[in-house]
Amino acid sequence: MLLDGKKISDEVKAELAVEVNKLISSGLRAPHLAAILVGNDGASETYVSSKVKACEQIGFGSTLVRLPADVSEERLLAEIDAINNNDEIDGLIVQLPLPKHINEQKVTDHVVPEKDVDGFHPVNVGKLVLGLPTFVSATPKGIMELLKRYNIETSGKHCVVLGRSNIVGTPMANLLSRNSNPGNCTVTLCHSRTKNLAEFTRSADILVAALGKAEFVTADMVKDGVVVIDVGITRVDDVNNPRGYVLKGDVAFDEVEPKSSFITPVPGGVGRMTIAALLQNTLQARLNSLQTQLIS
Ligand code: NAP
Repeated sequence: MLLDGKKISDEVKAELAVEVNKLISSGLRAPHLAAILVGNDGASETYVSSKVKACEQIGFGSTLVRLPADVSEERLLAEIDAINNNDEIDGLIVQLPLPKHINEQKVTDHVVPEKDVDGFHPVNVGKLVLGLPTFVSATPKGIMELLKRYNIETSGKHCVVLGRSNIVGTPMANLLSRNSNPGNCTVTLCHSRTKNLAEFTRSADILVAALGKAEFVTADMVKDGVVVIDVGITRVDDVNNPRGYVLKGDVAFDEVEPKSSFITPVPGGVGRMTIAALLQNTLQARLNSLQTQLIS
């Protein structure tokens, strides 16, 4: 059965639109997300414009700051400062990757944790590890929402996560091993140094593939009934496609789907949920700032 990220993200967005209307009818402004895009990488352009479009759909405000690929780190940090200090903006994302001359960690650290709706700031990552309320990085948060809304049983299951990046694999492993629902999995986190990878993947009840290698997971690597979450998005050249490429996940969908009990498609799976989760975080940022105003 398909885990339909489009359907569930549309549900989440409809719920968020209701919350926007509640704010506006109470005389308060809607949540506002700012995105900074450096350079003109095709994939980054696509991701950012999807996020801005999603804001417009549900009544959030949005600001897109475009900077040239050769922008100095100093100028980028100044743009972040301006947004950090702008009370009309609740959430800020800096689209990654950044050009090589810019220190990504320095940029991530510069966004104030209260506006870090991507959940990349060390303060928010630390809170996530401690299980404290925080902005959970959008892709793992979206996956948790998908598992929850499809009532996928996770407790006691063996979950194998492929990839240990700070934005996907590591927080995913953390969330799934928590004492929560979804959660309570026994988690194995695999990476490029893992030996006999297929032995791990074949024992997975839930397999999260986040490596960035098109169609890496094949049918012989999974057991019958597995739940498959395919995070990967890779552009693969295709002369028959008008765009010149097609998007592929990390899982060979056609051969793995028949063995799975649930599986996310690419596109229309995790990518959609990532955007929905980012919007949820932005609403949370807005509500947090209202609460702070009330207290002070
Ligand atoms: P990343 O930072 O490049 O991390 C890739 C991870 O995969 C690394 O931990 C790497 O191990 C591991 N890996 C690479 N080759 C492997 C192999 N042969 N066997 C086992 N592990 C291997 O990537 P990312 O940012 O997490 O993204 C992963 C994929 O998800 C990409 O396709 C990206 O475009 C996609 N993505 C999608 C969304 C979405 O919304 N759907 C969001 C974010 C990312 P080492 O640590 O040992 O190098």
